[in-house]
Amino acid sequence: MADVAFLGLGVMGFPMAGHLAAKGHRVTVWNRTSAKAGTWVERHGGQAAATAREAAHGAEFVMACVGNDDDLRQVCTGVDGAFAGMDPGAVFVDHTTVSARVTRDLAGIARERGLGFVDAPVSGGQAGAENGVLSIMCGGTEADYARAEPVMAAYARICRRLGDSGAGQMAKMMNQICIAGLMQGLSEALAFGQKAGLDGEAVVEVISQGAAGSWQMVNRHKTMLKDDFDFGFAVDWMRKDLAICLATAEEIGARLPVTALVDQFYKDVQLMGGGRNDTSSLIRRLK
Ligand code: NAP
Repeated sequence: MADVAFLGLGVMGFPMAGHLAAKGHRVTVWNRTSAKAGTWVERHGGQAAATAREAAHGAEFVMACVGNDDDLRQVCTGVDGAFAGMDPGAVFVDHTTVSARVTRDLAGIARERGLGFVDAPVSGGQAGAENGVLSIMCGGTEADYARAEPVMAAYARICRRLGDSGAGQMAKMMNQICIAGLMQGLSEALAFGQKAGLDGEAVVEVISQGAAGSWQMVNRHKTMLKDDFDFGFAVDWMRKDLAICLATAEEIGARLPVTALVDQFYKDVQLMGGGRNDTSSLIRRLK
């Protein structure tokens, strides 16, 4: 069992840190809004620290799950950031969805300080975090990954190293590119079925077991048919992720025509007041 710090107790980080404690790791948590850290300690034991730097001091592994590139940079390299507190040889594991560019920058800074760094964005949503069954896509050296993998196993269904620093984030981009087009297709099919007067749930029971089946179809069709979007992975987060995908596509010369279009459709949902809606709210534009 290891000494682990966890930074960022949001929708994802709170339950992920809980799984580490449940497995017997010695966990110190830090959250920018300290009340959440207090609630976490009441529920799971362990300790809360006043800063990321303090939480990281003495930890063998420092896990983070914050918001975007700027947030991660601040949490790593700020005056009270984690890198300032980490001991040489410790490994930083980042579960935030960020650009590969910031990942490679921070991994380089970590290396200069004798620290390990693994980018490890996740897929599986709030339910995946709560049930400890996330898919984790990793980048970093083989040695850093080999050390971090048994710790991440506390909340993973599958965890793989896919290449050097940034490879985990590039893989997460592939994940989001898949979801964007798929979600628009699912929205169009369900809205089409409703206009045609079909029983959407009955149709999905059949087609989800054929070639059209998907996680989104199985887990989201009922709420999409009922216009219930007040949960899940927020449209605002999805637009952050798609902006990263589109900028990266420009850099590497890849073409993402459907992803670019769906990004604009998500902008429509934001303008309809749905920024905090689940990404399945794409269907709202079609009703
Ligand atoms: P969230 O509930 O909004 O939590 C964000 C966390 O980051 C909070 O603990 C927040 O602290 C902290 N934070 C944000 N900016 C910070 C800063 N500048 N300094 C320090 N702490 C900061 O978000 P989430 O849903 O857990 O998502 C976290 C990350 O995972 C995002 O990158 C997201 O894209 C990714 N992700 C989310 C899902 C999902 O289904 N939710 C799925 C896969 C990946 P406060 O409490 O003080 O605000």
